Amino acid sequence: MVHFVGAGPGAPDLITLRGQQLLKEAGQVIYAGSLVNPELLQNCRADCRILDSARMTLEEVIAAILRAESEGLVTVRLHTGDPSVFGAIREQMAELDRHNVPYDVTPGVSSFCAAAAALNAEYTLPGVSQSLILTRMAGRTPVPDKENMAAMASHGCSMALFLSAGMAEALQAELLCGAYTPETPAAIVYKASWPEEKVFRCTVGTLAACAAENHITKTALLLVGDFLGNLRERSKLYDPGFTTGYRKGTDA
Ligand code: SAH
Repeated sequence: MVHFVGAGPGAPDLITLRGQQLLKEAGQVIYAGSLVNPELLQNCRADCRILDSARMTLEEVIAAILRAESEGLVTVRLHTGDPSVFGAIREQMAELDRHNVPYDVTPGVSSFCAAAAALNAEYTLPGVSQSLILTRMAGRTPVPDKENMAAMASHGCSMALFLSAGMAEALQAELLCGAYTPETPAAIVYKASWPEEKVFRCTVGTLAACAAENHITKTALLLVGDFLGNLRERSKLYDPGFTTGYRKGTDA
């Protein structure tokens, strides 16, 4: 049995209770050492086999899982944030299906949530944006053509950019081809929820300079959109004049 577990964004107390319990019981843990906080491994069994997938290929990960299966050991595959976002879990699942190894998934707190928390931000601000795009710049790993950054930026909605901190200059140029202006608020959140977390507020026009000045090239999210600016209107949900399924408003 394999449990894919979301480790959360970094702070060890941001893993779920279920994830923590599975880690405690595991006979083998394969963790994404490039981003998962190793403090999470402190509560593993003394006899737990711990492998760092940062140095492994997919083939090696699967071989390690199959070996554990043959020994009757349960594997926790620990991914940073939430496994469903840039987690490369489907390719592992396809191999596990092929070998008839059962698995399940325990979600985690994604870094885009931790970054918003660090900024006291809300992605879905009334009258500003009701959509959030999670994406990345094309680099050595391509992005489908129709998801090119300028096309994504044409919506002008809230955006969280993964895996793109090292390409801030190209990113800035692409964003400006879309609906954002040089004055559109932006932010860089480095290692959200880790002790060394850093938060920089800037604008789309100063995004690349901000990354360069602060030597941010990885482990950061770039956030863009007017949701980082001023509140424009209050919500209907808590408006005394608005009736909901749970509360009669003065409009009733
Ligand atoms: N599954 C992860 C994302 C993995 S892709 C999640 O849900 O968060 C790796 C990218 O995620 C990094 O390049 C960076 O852009 C972002 N990232 C992961 N952890 C982060 C953190 N604590 N703070 C800021 N960005 C982070």
